[in-house]
Amino acid sequence: MSVARQESIVGAVEAGGTKFVCAIGSGPGAQLLDRAQFPTGDDPAGVLRNVTAWLQERQAEHGALTALGVASFGPLDLDESSPTYGFITSTPKAGWANTDIVGPLRAAFPGIPIGFDTDVNGAGLGEWRWGAAQGLDDFVYITVGTGLGGGGMARGKLLHGLVHPEMGHMGITRIAGDDFEGVCPFHGRCWEGLCSGPAIEKRAGRPAPDLPPDHPAWDLTIQYMAYGLVNLTCVLSPRRIILGGSVRKAGRLGEARFFERVRAAFRSIMAGYIVSPALTEAGLAEFIVPPRLGDNAGVCGAIALAQAARKNGPARRDGNKSKNTRKTR
Ligand code: ZN
Repeated sequence: MSVARQESIVGAVEAGGTKFVCAIGSGPGAQLLDRAQFPTGDDPAGVLRNVTAWLQERQAEHGALTALGVASFGPLDLDESSPTYGFITSTPKAGWANTDIVGPLRAAFPGIPIGFDTDVNGAGLGEWRWGAAQGLDDFVYITVGTGLGGGGMARGKLLHGLVHPEMGHMGITRIAGDDFEGVCPFHGRCWEGLCSGPAIEKRAGRPAPDLPPDHPAWDLTIQYMAYGLVNLTCVLSPRRIILGGSVRKAGRLGEARFFERVRAAFRSIMAGYIVSPALTEAGLAEFIVPPRLGDNAGVCGAIALAQAARKNGPARRDGNKSKNTRKTR
């Protein structure tokens, strides 16, 4: 391995609701040198110990990591002046509320830049660098799995603001005759409450991958999925929507059929209101797409966050506001 390549190695942590995926490398494909995963479970301290130990072992093997990137499920505190910067905040996930996930990494890897953002902004950044959002400065990245989240870019900057977008928790029109109460502990029938994996399982009485293709739960899930995508298109005017996460694989229905049906439902709900070649029947095949990095979108996103942090400035090592380590570009 060349010296130049060793210098570019970063550590990546994709913190998901089901598993933590860790990697080292400098990008997708052959640039991803090693990866491992640990179940998220309900013991954050144990998982974070495993993650830091794995990264330290890889560092011993491959040379010093030049930066770390953490792309996490949320909600997160991304305010660098806040005493709880680097924390997962109000998640309903058992054991994980108010958990400092950047702190243990900062302690284990003192002095190196750490990029920190939502899993979906991270995955979006990865797709922008290497995948389905290349050349696009306005796009949305959605993940639908244990939860439902969205991030992306506007005018070439990752979406941040008051906190970060929480696209999964927008309200969604009720389809006539559907009395499902949803699964979100905060809102019941928000987008996540209607379309996440646990929502499909609760509605259908068995997990999504086991459902026959003609099960009515697919029909409703696809309709609600499309309502959310129409809302996002109306609000953010993205040039593309990348739909990742496990639900889009759609088990026995299949990913290709799932996307076809989501696009058709999107077109029907949009009803021709926004006029763009991207929103025609042919255009939608390129407008609503799966991640090109596939299941590595998240961890490649964490690599991209690490690289952005390295480019943007030194690590934030204490409570003082230092140079930005999270804003990219
Ligand atoms: Zn909600």
